[in-house]
Amino acid sequence: MDRKRIDLISGDITLLYVDAIVNAANTSLLGGGGVDGAIHRAAGPDLLAECVKLNGCETGRSKITDGYKLKAKHVIHTVGPIWRGGYSDENLLLASCYQTSLELAKEKKLNTIAFPGISTGAYGFPKDIAALIAVNETKRFLKKNSYPHKVIFVTYGDDNYEFYRKLLNK
Ligand code: ADP
Repeated sequence: MDRKRIDLISGDITLLYVDAIVNAANTSLLGGGGVDGAIHRAAGPDLLAECVKLNGCETGRSKITDGYKLKAKHVIHTVGPIWRGGYSDENLLLASCYQTSLELAKEKKLNTIAFPGISTGAYGFPKDIAALIAVNETKRFLKKNSYPHKVIFVTYGDDNYEFYRKLLNK
């Protein structure tokens, strides 16, 4: 796998010009706090109107919509697990968020996709474990697939950046 296919940046994911940004959504897909609220605010009400039609989403699964007023063409909504101490399949479910999001990007032949730290905010997932899962699942996927061409991890004003930086040797 070409190392240049993974990037790490710190900043607001809603400002990125990419084919898709990933939203840390909840099972209702009807918006929420954190990055979810920021994405809906930036995309405008048409995003919510499309989300209403999707009938929610299970934890560990992902659904794609348009990006509307965002600079990103699409939003991939993935539902991360709530951390409950590590005994409720949280690791598997978080891995599945990355797999199913990447699978959608592949299906749609998207070149560039950006992920926030799924589940690492209100859902309380330990950031070091979450970063390891994000990096491992992404590397595994990129080795086998030519789409998406590039994956960007976006950290936001917290210590997440260092966890990713160490794992990616940047
Ligand atoms: P979850 O409920 O899945 O934990 P949150 O939105 O609470 O989702 O947090 C997920 C991650 O997104 C956190 O690491 C948080 O710092 C980050 N985040 C919040 N707002 C933004 C943003 N505008 N751009 C990128 N990352 C963000």
